[in-house]
Amino acid sequence: MPKTAPFLVPTTLLVRPRYGIRCGPSTDHPQVPATLFISDLHLAPERPVMIECFLGLLRKRAREAQALYILGDLFDAWLGDDDDQPPYPEIRAALRGLTESGTDCYLMHGNRDFLIGHAFARDTGCKLLADPTPVDLAGTPSLLMHGDLLCTDDVPYQKFRRRIRNPVVRRLFLWKSLSERRAIAADYRRKSGAAIAEKTQAIMDVNQRTVEKYMRRFSARRLIHGHTHRPADHSFTLDGNPVTRLVLTEWHTNRGEVLAVSENGWKREEIRLG
Ligand code: MN
Repeated sequence: MPKTAPFLVPTTLLVRPRYGIRCGPSTDHPQVPATLFISDLHLAPERPVMIECFLGLLRKRAREAQALYILGDLFDAWLGDDDDQPPYPEIRAALRGLTESGTDCYLMHGNRDFLIGHAFARDTGCKLLADPTPVDLAGTPSLLMHGDLLCTDDVPYQKFRRRIRNPVVRRLFLWKSLSERRAIAADYRRKSGAAIAEKTQAIMDVNQRTVEKYMRRFSARRLIHGHTHRPADHSFTLDGNPVTRLVLTEWHTNRGEVLAVSENGWKREEIRLG
């Protein structure tokens, strides 16, 4: 057995955020904490500047916040919680520093780091979130997702997603040595790069009917997700109610972005190095 068998734990054991997150009258005042959302950083050992940018967010801006939600693809790849190559220990320690400072940190799996397990959560103090997770944000019923479940026009991807997230498949993968897992991941990356190049832009975006289905199911007035790398604020009407879909920004070499939500609404804040 590997040290971590994260996916055999029923999803009911995943911690869901408390309802009724309190936010103050203004997100501009440092004394009034907002709730922060990020996704799609795709951190990797070969991207040290971006890692510094993220560590800076954890050391400063996130400590003023009520909570930090990481909605998937924090890492460009995650091969198991036993992967201790630099810079992963440093990132773990920085997340631990944030949660010990009093800011709650929630982590949702993305399609690239869905093998983050309970050992990682224990080491960092982060709480794993199911996808989707409903949460009340300053009185607005909101739904949090990574976003890949919304891309239902990409039928082969959805099939692949179901296959690799099968608990047996995951467990067999985690049983392999780290070097075997690295080889499998590298091979997969080569193949998926070619497959993605053949797909149209429209197929890789969300399907509006799927968006509406999820929002209806959770009576959500706001949906926050990443994954598509198409940051935008979409407003539309659902069953007579005005609703919003906020798409998070993917991070670039030396520049990231957080979405800060309070009872006043939301704003996008740039995160730069230093
Ligand atoms: Mn993704």
